[in-house]
Amino acid sequence: MNDVIKEMERYAEANNVPIIEPDSILFIKKYIKLNDVKKILEVGTAIGYSAILMATAKDDVEVTTIERDDKRYREAVKNVNEAGLDDRIEVVFNDALDVNLAGYSYDLIFIDAAKSQLKKYFEKFQNYLNPGGVIITDNIKFHGLVAEKDKIESKNVRQLVDKIEDYKEYLQNNDEFITKFYDVGDGLAVSFRKNDESIKGID
Ligand code: SAH
Ligand code: MG
Repeated sequence: MNDVIKEMERYAEANNVPIIEPDSILFIKKYIKLNDVKKILEVGTAIGYSAILMATAKDDVEVTTIERDDKRYREAVKNVNEAGLDDRIEVVFNDALDVNLAGYSYDLIFIDAAKSQLKKYFEKFQNYLNPGGVIITDNIKFHGLVAEKDKIESKNVRQLVDKIEDYKEYLQNNDEFITKFYDVGDGLAVSFRKNDESIKGID
């Protein structure tokens, strides 16, 4: 298992795949254990790195993870098989906004796909969240750029930062969810329904 993880880290570095930061995955694994999370939905698989690490938090965790890029999807399937986790991780090849999840629900939804679509993911996937569950969004600091918007030269990047700021505002003003922002890794947002007060490890 450790070899598979190390090889994925090497591959991600060599191929510019933005995998989750060490502190962030530690935070999420701790959350999974403390709250006895069993069903996870991940939006944005890349090569399966975070899916595999979440599945190793404890052995009754099942992950469904969605990836729209063909090459990354195939790399993820290969890695899941090599990690011996194909019985607990299902990799779905599709655009997350086109996936039909009718009849499914999750204890943890991890949003880590296109930063331009964060609000769309949140609006769609909140309908599949179990009572007591949370939605965690990664890269809320966008590599530190959210704090340094004035210095960004690329218009595209500035627009993405604007999108992330809009999303933060949307979460802060959400009537149904409370969101806490964590300065962990590249920034995590943890959102839970207002009546769910017994969630552990997020204070
Ligand atoms: N969660 C991974 C990293 C994901 S990187 C990890 O930490 O290991 C983000 C991925 O989301 C990219 O591979 C990209 O192809 C994918 N993606 C972006 N928008 C998507 C969408 N709408 N549906 C499915 N996948 C998407
Ligand atoms: Mg990420």
